[in-house]
Amino acid sequence: MKIGSLKETTEREARVALTPDSARQLIKLGHECLVESGAGAKSGFSDEAYRSAGIVVVEDAVALSAASDVLVKVRPPQPDELDRLFAGQTLISFFYPSQNERLLQQAVERGVNTIAMDMVPRISRAQKMDALSSMANIAGYRAVIEAGNNFGRFFTGQVTAAGKVPPAKVLVIGAGVAGLAAIGTATSLGAITLAFDVRPEVAEQIESMGAEFVYLDFAGQQDGSASGGYAAPSSPEFREKQLSKFRELAPEVDIVITTALIPGRDAPKLWLADMVAAMKPGSVVVDLAAERGGNCDLTRLDEKVISDNGVTIIGYTDFPSRMAAQSSSLYAMNIRHMLADLTPGKDGKLVHNMDDDVIRGATVAFDGSLTFPPPPPKVQ
Ligand code: NAD
Repeated sequence: MKIGSLKETTEREARVALTPDSARQLIKLGHECLVESGAGAKSGFSDEAYRSAGIVVVEDAVALSAASDVLVKVRPPQPDELDRLFAGQTLISFFYPSQNERLLQQAVERGVNTIAMDMVPRISRAQKMDALSSMANIAGYRAVIEAGNNFGRFFTGQVTAAGKVPPAKVLVIGAGVAGLAAIGTATSLGAITLAFDVRPEVAEQIESMGAEFVYLDFAGQQDGSASGGYAAPSSPEFREKQLSKFRELAPEVDIVITTALIPGRDAPKLWLADMVAAMKPGSVVVDLAAERGGNCDLTRLDEKVISDNGVTIIGYTDFPSRMAAQSSSLYAMNIRHMLADLTPGKDGKLVHNMDDDVIRGATVAFDGSLTFPPPPPKVQ
């Protein structure tokens, strides 16, 4: 099959879905690879690097779409990009089908077999294709780097000839994939790191990374775990306890990284304006939940704002794109694994096996039919 990688058209999107390395692997599976000219430029992969790896560089998106059997990209397609595709072609990208109903309908009508990388089931067998986790890991890392860049002090404590410097205190709220990456990064930079999650089972993971789990003094039974390792909304009593603990911590923490999300809902508001007001000037809040409304009251989407008392609040939503070389490599690897599963004979022939839980789960449109939402996976 001919696998073509389109240049991203969304503003501020620097990633690419095919790298010279991932293409070499796809060629070994019997595929041919094509890339739109300039597609890898913002992530450090020149047209020349693609050519050296045996990839055909195609001048524009229209020619590339016409010449490819499979189109790979990062962001969901624009309606005009989707309009260029024809029945029987396969598209693999992030798609977010529940937020893009019109686009999904368009994919169905055009007969484009559509694989949403954000719909890959989060089961062990599919971890190699779990692009959401790959990107969340980078976002968590980059959130700490971005915080450091806006924080005028060291993370680690130092004893210098001029005097003693205390370590920074970092609080991470939400210890899923991004939160754990943020905890790992902050501790490795030498900060004292505290972390909170409503799922008590993450306490051990947090502590094993050298951070301190923030326990609440809560008499009632609260276990914020829901199915699949996700969180459920908190009871009002629990939420009050949580907020009062955060109020207590606000004057002493220098950096807060918030990552708290509940599937299918707006992000819970957890770092409120009065907590920001209680923080020291020069402190930083990085809100990784900005795209879903933000965990912090004062977050502005895709902006950096400074509060009246000098606290920087960062609401960027493009952290993976800010590390485009790394995120493209990992995302291209996730795509390559998906294509490997779609090429069981390693003979360049695509077999879209809808009996396979992972392929079925990720396929949102197939053969002119809507295949979203998928049935629950059989294997956990
Ligand atoms: P997520 O992005 O949905 O949520 C981030 C974190 O916010 C979660 O840990 C959640 O518990 C927490 N949270 C929600 N409300 C909160 C509140 N009020 N206060 C504090 N924290 C709150 O989560 P995610 O990163 O997508 O990961 C979800 C789960 O899926 C994790 O358990 C993860 O280990 C699991 N997972 C499993 C696989 C697999 O292949 N088996 C792959 C990826 C993730």
